[in-house]
Amino acid sequence: MATLVVALGGNAILQRGERGTAEEQRKNVDITAQQIALLVKQGHRVVVTHGNGPQVGNIMIQNEAARDQVPPMPMDIAGAESQGMIGYMMQMYIRNRLREMGLDIPVATIITQTIVDSEDPAFSNPSKPVGPFYDRAWAEKRMKEAGETWIEDSGRGWRRVVPSPDPKFIVEGPSIKALVEAGHLVVASGGGGIPVIMSPDGKLSGIEAVIDKDLAAERLATYIGADTLLILTDVPGAAVNFGTPSQRWLGKVSLEELERYQAEGHFRKGSMGPKVEAIIRFLRNGGQTGVIASLDRAVDAASGRAGTVVTKT
Ligand code: ADP
Ligand code: MG
Repeated sequence: MATLVVALGGNAILQRGERGTAEEQRKNVDITAQQIALLVKQGHRVVVTHGNGPQVGNIMIQNEAARDQVPPMPMDIAGAESQGMIGYMMQMYIRNRLREMGLDIPVATIITQTIVDSEDPAFSNPSKPVGPFYDRAWAEKRMKEAGETWIEDSGRGWRRVVPSPDPKFIVEGPSIKALVEAGHLVVASGGGGIPVIMSPDGKLSGIEAVIDKDLAAERLATYIGADTLLILTDVPGAAVNFGTPSQRWLGKVSLEELERYQAEGHFRKGSMGPKVEAIIRFLRNGGQTGVIASLDRAVDAASGRAGTVVTKT
């Protein structure tokens, strides 16, 4: 039975233009759950991971708005909150959809920590905007009093930026692997995992940073020895000359061809870039197939009949 790590994009939980009400998120997660259940029905062993940007952003806004009544939580704890809330929705809707198809498979979420290197160059260059927009006075106060980094974001106000270091190791990897091998459907590494650093004596501590969910999905897929890394998003795949008249969606491509396009700069930093990088790393680290496809084509994509399908040769 082939093992599939499915990395869900933001559109699996929230569509463009939605505010993020519980009902909107439930509806989207249920549609996603149907796709996941279909993958299981097709005979795949599935591990699910997902983004958390809008959800953790909203938690941070709640924290700031209630600052005087309830102590705000740091980013690592907010990340854990988002994993729990999204994990719960995934667990329930995936279980319901599986049952509808006559599949009695246990579904569980693992709150996941991801180790990053404390020497990662990202720490000297915080670049990923998080949380709400504020005015200059607030930004200056936070920079002075809390030592945070803030940037002015194209006239829309000031926003905090945090480092986005490279994920190295999934702390809960052994637990995830054991559950997968026992036939459970696992939801893990949400939002790329909670970023932690490890001291020389092995002690973990949470940090104020974010991890790219696609790069963390590669770490997870490689660790559990998955056959396929399937990255589902809101476009049909990876394109060369994206957004220009000569745009061309990539279908079946070899690893070398994809690396050539990457070197030519076809995939944007922060969106398609990390997906392509994740697929390249997965194949370099022993994976068989990497696919980037749109969420509604999940089943075809898993068997290489939709999306950008990357293999070693
Ligand atoms: P997700 O939440 O799924 O990670 P992202 O917004 O991070 O979604 O990445 C998907 C987006 O990447 C697409 O909506 C598209 O606008 C953008 N993109 C940038 N470069 C490319 C490219 N070369 N081919 C396809 N999509 C691209
Ligand atoms: Mg993304």
